[in-house]
Amino acid sequence: MNPTELIMKKRGGGKLTAPEIEFLVQGFLSGEVPQYQMAAFLMAVFFRKMDFEETTILADIMLHSGTVIDLSSVPGIKVDKHSTGGVGDKVSIILAPMVAACGVPVPMISGRGLGHTGGTLDKLESIPGFRTDLSIKEYRDLVADIGLVMIGQTAEIAPADKKMYALRDVTGTVESIPLIAGSIMSKKLAEGIDALVLDVKTGRGAFMASESEAEELARTLIEVGEKFDKKTMGFLTDMNQPLGSAVGNWLEIRECIDCLHGEDVPDLMEITYVLGGAMLLAGAKALSIEEGISKCRGAIQSGKAWDKFEEMVRRQGGSMAFVENPDSYPKSAFNKEIKSAASGYIDNIDALEVGFIGIMLGAGRMKVEDSIDPKAGIIFRKKVGDSADPGDTLAVIHTDNKNILEQAAHRLEKAISVATEPSVHPPLIHALIDKEGVHPWHRG
Ligand code: URA
Repeated sequence: MNPTELIMKKRGGGKLTAPEIEFLVQGFLSGEVPQYQMAAFLMAVFFRKMDFEETTILADIMLHSGTVIDLSSVPGIKVDKHSTGGVGDKVSIILAPMVAACGVPVPMISGRGLGHTGGTLDKLESIPGFRTDLSIKEYRDLVADIGLVMIGQTAEIAPADKKMYALRDVTGTVESIPLIAGSIMSKKLAEGIDALVLDVKTGRGAFMASESEAEELARTLIEVGEKFDKKTMGFLTDMNQPLGSAVGNWLEIRECIDCLHGEDVPDLMEITYVLGGAMLLAGAKALSIEEGISKCRGAIQSGKAWDKFEEMVRRQGGSMAFVENPDSYPKSAFNKEIKSAASGYIDNIDALEVGFIGIMLGAGRMKVEDSIDPKAGIIFRKKVGDSADPGDTLAVIHTDNKNILEQAAHRLEKAISVATEPSVHPPLIHALIDKEGVHPWHRG
């Protein structure tokens, strides 16, 4: 086969066969298909798309480019959650121990910050000593022993995705539904799960800003999951403003610690409970999402979710000192409060802009090799819909980089808008999507 012919076939809108997709993906992995040809192919897919059959074949080939973990010896229905990424999205860190505490094993492979979005691995690694690079044996042992593990993609898991993703990141080919579906599902299907709950974000701070694209992505992910016999459902959730109060790695862990101790951060906990309810339903520990939600609330209130989190931190090598006494964590050298200039209601907090400001402060990477300052970030004191008076603190910036403090503060001031009257905003959870279709979601 000739890669140029296949690139031209896709460029013309043609449908590729399984051997053709396999030739390109395996060839790229082995080095026979050079980066420039794979980049051209990815761009062709970006513009001409892939149909469902091609997308499933792509996911399958990427999945089998590495090890597919077998957790069948671990009792129970293993369920994971995946978010398509957002700003302040720390849900997994509360959700995974909460669901595991309810008896559903949660094997989770997460990612790092990507573009303007934060990553679960970077957040967990702000806990000194916490290891996200466990071997597959350690991963399996933790699921068997404590019903919970949170790691990063290893060299053995979907290596084709790892290599293709790195290329997509620098060739403007990330926001493609078939490529995202292949990438996400190849990793999730390799985890050894039986079921998957998706949090597909839509809005300013999401990769799929438009609702229709987010819905199409959710449907594709669900169809691929079901095709591989994994019960898959998802929620379309709002990512116009950051989720919760904290943006930045340790600041977000700190917020999760508070929530695991029972603090109610309304938007964050609403999504966490709904996803948890769905995971319990998928894991056969509840007969409905509502029943699952109430069991998840019970796990937080009883302290069982917290105990499970502590057990995971301990088993993955994290220092308990800061987890048990978060106030003792080192603080950023510089803080700056953003004050309201007007009287009214918070109308918008631009999640995309906040994500980029977070990177400026040191909470994310501008280049792959950049290191992260775990202390850096922003704490929001007001969220969309809250009232504000002149001089009220809207947010506080934390950074060690004095040089960018004023510029970051200026950008953040502009990212938060105050209107004289409260306005109507989209609901936090737009819809539930499963193999039957899209269902409206009403707050319970
Ligand atoms: N997350 C992934 O793992 N892959 C993508 O392509 C996009 C988001």
